[in-house]
Amino acid sequence: MFERLSAPHGLLRYGVAPDQKKIKRIADRFDRIALEYGFRFWGNVHVGRDITVEELQERYDAIVLAVGASVDRQMGIPGEGLSGCYSSMEFVGWYNGHPDFKQQSFDLNCERAVIVGNGNVALDVARMLARSEQELHSLDMPDYARELLSASKLKEIVIVGRRGPAQISFTAQELNMLKTLERASVFVGDSELVLNDESQFEMASHENRHRKRAYEVLQSFDGEKKDVGIRMTFLQSPVEVLGDHCVKGVCLCHNVMKGPADDQRAAPTEDVHDLSCGLVISCIGYAMDDTFGLPKFGDHIAHEEGRVQGTDRVYVTGWAKTGPQGLIGGTKADAMQTLPAILADLQMLKPRASLDREAVMQLLKQKGIQPVTSL
Ligand code: NAP
Repeated sequence: MFERLSAPHGLLRYGVAPDQKKIKRIADRFDRIALEYGFRFWGNVHVGRDITVEELQERYDAIVLAVGASVDRQMGIPGEGLSGCYSSMEFVGWYNGHPDFKQQSFDLNCERAVIVGNGNVALDVARMLARSEQELHSLDMPDYARELLSASKLKEIVIVGRRGPAQISFTAQELNMLKTLERASVFVGDSELVLNDESQFEMASHENRHRKRAYEVLQSFDGEKKDVGIRMTFLQSPVEVLGDHCVKGVCLCHNVMKGPADDQRAAPTEDVHDLSCGLVISCIGYAMDDTFGLPKFGDHIAHEEGRVQGTDRVYVTGWAKTGPQGLIGGTKADAMQTLPAILADLQMLKPRASLDREAVMQLLKQKGIQPVTSL
């Protein structure tokens, strides 16, 4: 296993929120696999830069790319670069101690934060911003992040969705987690929950039952008064982040839904208003970087049953195969679909004489790479 960072576990270590303790425990399963005979970890090796896929192919019979989606999507609006406006990748990486983001600093001395996006990452970010000092103390996270979050002055966190409450990507379970917050409560105004005819049709379909469950959770928030309010608002798109050097607010445009049921899009209206805030975090999903120069199909590497198109025995799994969507458990099922392709192709191969591990080490050393290795 080759890994760009010195520590393993990727998104599980650096992406999953520290309060998702059960999910984090999947790392124990990974560690058990890593202890099996024949497994070797090579950390601090950036495949595609420190060592090429071709160089790996010369030394291994099959290469599986499980590189995820490591670039954040941009909102593409003026003011996005202001201090105080961050992507979820930066903020989530920071509170999880990701080496690329742990030097980042955030100013939580403002009263209102705006989170853009209606996916589970937006909920992770909202929870982490809203947790009390006591709650943060029980979490496995870096001290610098715990201290800064504990000292936060935030009174309101506004989660902004560009489409309606029937099109949210939140899951019911993650929405319900908001109810467990010690010092924060959720408010969703009745007018926010009104559905147009197409959305009512969508809610009635069996295929959208998970969305219906999530919508029912939205209806169930009682808005009880606590120290921090999490407010959900829909049919709004940020069109500008306001401020000179630092964020002072966002300009939001009211949207209307257009198009048939199950394919409704947000269309902007002329109705815009400013919302003051000192922090904006965009949680609008991730994308793949182009390190490998491999053919892409939409938001993932182009493949057939896990075989990367136009390559010989290079495979793909996880978000690099499916695009940045789905829960961690789903990646296991996905890997099980790539596996038959690998096994079938390996059967056709003449068995290779044993792998010369020292040759890999020598190659890396020649290139000036200091790998962190498990053997
Ligand atoms: P996501 O589920 O794809 O949600 C992205 C959200 O951003 C959507 O609401 C999308 O709206 C919105 N969006 C995209 N572009 C936008 C723009 N330009 N302006 C405004 N809004 C925009 O992505 P995610 O939250 O990053 O999550 C990625 C995957 O990880 C998901 O499958 C998620 O369930 C999973 N995850 C799971 C957990 C958990 O189980 N605890 C935690 C975190 C993440 P549209 O729908 O209109 O495109």
